[in-house]
Amino acid sequence: MRPRLVLLLALLALCGCSRAPAATPRRVILVTCDTLRADRLGAYGYARPTSPNLDAFAKDGVVFDEAYTTIPITGPALSALFTGLLPDELGLAGGNAFLLGAQATTLAEVLRAAGVRTGAVVSNWVLRAPAPEQGDVGLKQGFEHYDDRMQTREGVRDSFERLAADTTDAALRWLDARKAKAEDPLFLWVHYQDPHGPYRPAPEMLTGLERPLTDEPELALGTTRFGKGQLPRYQDVDGERAPERYRIRYDGEVRTFDAHFGRLVAWLKSNGWYDDALVVFTADHGESLGEHDYWFCHGENVHREEVRVPLVVKYPRGATRPKAERVRELATHLDLWPTVLEAFALPPRPNRGTSLLVATLPAERVATQVVREPRAPDRWFAATDGRWRLVQQGAEAPRLFDVAADPFEARDLASAEPARVDELARRAQRFVADHANAPIAPARLLPTSENQRALQHTGYTGDDEH
Ligand SMILES: [Zn+2]
Repeated sequence: MRPRLVLLLALLALCGCSRAPAATPRRVILVTCDTLRADRLGAYGYARPTSPNLDAFAKDGVVFDEAYTTIPITGPALSALFTGLLPDELGLAGGNAFLLGAQATTLAEVLRAAGVRTGAVVSNWVLRAPAPEQGDVGLKQGFEHYDDRMQTREGVRDSFERLAADTTDAALRWLDARKAKAEDPLFLWVHYQDPHGPYRPAPEMLTGLERPLTDEPELALGTTRFGKGQLPRYQDVDGERAPERYRIRYDGEVRTFDAHFGRLVAWLKSNGWYDDALVVFTADHGESLGEHDYWFCHGENVHREEVRVPLVVKYPRGATRPKAERVRELATHLDLWPTVLEAFALPPRPNRGTSLLVATLPAERVATQVVREPRAPDRWFAATDGRWRLVQQGAEAPRLFDVAADPFEARDLASAEPARVDELARRAQRFVADHANAPIAPARLLPTSENQRALQHTGYTGDDEH
C-alpha cells in the first residue's frame, strides 16, 4: 500500500470517519490587580464584603496563603513575573523609570512563537506600550494584541489610568473576537488598576464598608509622593486626614475591582471556556496602610504588607492540582512562568520557580524581595521561607519576623534567634546565586517623539512610582 494511503486510512480509523470533537484548545487567563493586599479579601479572611466574586472564584480553585511578589513596584514586579527573573537580573530594582530590556525573553514571546494567540489589556500608566522608536522593549514584548488605552486622569496625578469597568469591557471585546477562532490556544493577561491610589471608588461601592473612624492622629499631607510618616501628595482626597477614611476607600476600590472581575469570570462561564481554562489571579504587590509608619504607599520598603500578594489558581479540568484547597507553602510570581508553560504542554526552561500544576509544593523554598538598586545605600532586601522573614535596609542589622505569629512584622526576633537569621541569609544567598543570569540591560523610558508628546501633555516625569 502506498504510504500516503496508509496514512489516510490510519487517520480515518483514528477519527472513526466522523467528526470527532477536537481536544479543547488550551486557554490561560492571567488576571493581575494593582496594589491589592491579600488580607483585604474574603478568601484571605477579611470580614468586610470587599470580594464576593473573587471569593466564589477561589472556591473553584486553590488559594495560596503565602505568596510573594519580587518587588513592590508595578513595572519591575510584572517584568519579573513575565520573565521568571529577579528584578536585579533585569536591572529594574530601581523603579519604574526603566523598562524591560529587548534582550529579555518573555512568557508571551515564548507562547506566541508556539502558536498561542496572545492578548493583553493593561490599565496602569507605567505599563503603556513604549514609543515605537524604543523598539521591542517593556511588557508589550510577545503580545500580538496590547490594549493600553487609558483615558481617566488619576486624581491629582499627572498620569492616566483605566478603570475596572473599561478594563473588563476591553478584555471581553478581545475574547469575543477570539470566539470566531475558538480552536486557537490563547493567553490573555488583564491588569486592573483600581485599588491603586488615589482611592476614589464610586459612592455605591462604599455601602456596607463604612465604619467608625479610629482614634489615630490625623495624617500630615506630604509634598512628595512618599508615604513615610505622611499622606503622599497624590493620595489626598477631599482634604481628608483621618487614616481610617482612606482604608475604607481602599476597601471600596477592592470591591470595584471585584465587581468587574466577576464579569470576566461570568463571560468565561457563559461561553463554556471556564472549566477547561487555567485562570490565575494575583496582584503585582501590596500596599502599606499605616504599618511601620508608611501610609497608603508601596515601593518604599519590603515589609509583608507591601510584598505579600493574593494568589488563586483555578485549574483546568483534569489537571494535576494541589490536594488542599489552601496551600500554606511558599509560592511566588516566579512560579507562574513554569505553570503557564506546562498548561500549554510546552517544554520547561531552567527557572527559579516551580510549576503550580503539582500535587504538593516543595516545602523547603526561599523567596527574596528588594527595593532599589543593588548598590544603593538605602536598599531594602528581604528573604522568606514562608514562615520566617528576614528584612534588612542598607547596612542596618537584619530583623527577623515570625509571620505565623506576627503577620505585620512588629516584633523583631533577630537577637533571640541568631542561628535562624544566619541560615535564612545563607539560603537566600544560594537562591540568588543558583540559576544566576547575566544581567539584562533595561531600557530607559525615553521622553522622545510620541512618548515626549504624551509626557508633555500630562506633565509626567517618568520617575513616579506606581
Ligand atoms: Zn502596582
